[in-house]
Amino acid sequence: MQNILVTGGAGFIGSNFVHFILAANPTVRVINLDALTYAGSLENLKGLPDENRHEFVQGDICDRSLVDRLLHEHEIDTVVHFAAESHVDRSIHGPDQFVQTNIVGTYTLLEACRQFWLKENFAQNRPVRFHHVSTDEVFGSLKPEDPPFREDTPYAPNSPYSASKAASDHLVRAYFHTYGLPVTISNCSNNYGPRQFPEKLIPLMILNALEGKPLPVYGDGNQIRDWLHVQDHCEAIYSILQDGKAGETYNIGGNNQPTNLEIIRQICALLDELRPESPYRPHFQLKQHVTDRPGHDRRYAMDIRKIERELGWKPRFELASGLRQTVEWYLDNSQWVSAIRQQQEYQAWLMKNYAA
Ligand code: NAD
Repeated sequence: MQNILVTGGAGFIGSNFVHFILAANPTVRVINLDALTYAGSLENLKGLPDENRHEFVQGDICDRSLVDRLLHEHEIDTVVHFAAESHVDRSIHGPDQFVQTNIVGTYTLLEACRQFWLKENFAQNRPVRFHHVSTDEVFGSLKPEDPPFREDTPYAPNSPYSASKAASDHLVRAYFHTYGLPVTISNCSNNYGPRQFPEKLIPLMILNALEGKPLPVYGDGNQIRDWLHVQDHCEAIYSILQDGKAGETYNIGGNNQPTNLEIIRQICALLDELRPESPYRPHFQLKQHVTDRPGHDRRYAMDIRKIERELGWKPRFELASGLRQTVEWYLDNSQWVSAIRQQQEYQAWLMKNYAA
């Protein structure tokens, strides 16, 4: 692992991964391909090492000639694929872009890697190592009595987002079984932590509460998610890159299952403590139940024993301390927040969601 092509490295998890891997491994070089959609920002890349170790390229993963050129010019040996449309609500309102980026984009990368191997690296038998970052949502929804998702749980995606991620997982798998491309897949639970775009639950609640805005809770708020700190996710991916077995998939999760309402309550309690002067205390009073999301999955839970057993990874953050660190990060990084909020797309999204 020397020259890594990271896709979506200006987004939430991708940028945390780029910061992480450049610090963790002084010999790697990262080429960061990101289209800078509404979810990506150069703000997320501030503080990275110079161009010798990190090069940012603005572009689309569906652009085959660009991907071909990057693989060739930078002698890429590893791809870590984060780029995606990632917000379930947006997939309900407009699935097109999800099919394009998540399915066609993943296919484009896989095919470019296969051709690069055949045409340029076959003699040395050095295929590109391809790691695909995916989600627990491909498994569908659990009933209260169901055991957590395992790697062999049948896929049952319920939203256009999860269906597009499921399709991409299948393509990645097929490139291993059909062509022998050395792929790995990770299916991870909900992430939280620094640099998450404020349309997602945790940053949305933090920032709305700080400004005394309503805290929208879908339905009864008793949907259950497994939450993982993004730093733990980055470490899990790194351990898969180092010791994961080609053709395998690994579940990643935080071993916790709070309801959305519990998460909101904890965030509000942290803000009550950290902002004692706030006129909006107790912040939990700002919660406002709104119509549930159509097809909203009720419960996700991850069985992570495989990655613990085979690769020795396990989450290091407790949910309570991870949430505290995250709330503190948003309080300390108001400049990042205002830069992200000034983006045109964010303004349009706010208008759509809060205009009424
Ligand atoms: P994000 O929306 O914050 O970032 C996605 C990034 O991809 C952005 O920087 C965006 O500009 C870029 N991008 C989008 N379309 C592109 C295209 N066509 N070409 C190039 N770049 C493009 O997403 P995230 O939350 O960081 O998620 C990253 C990956 O992790 C996704 O594949 C997602 O499915 C997966 N995942 C996310 C979570 C989570 O809780 N956020 C959990 C499990 C898995």
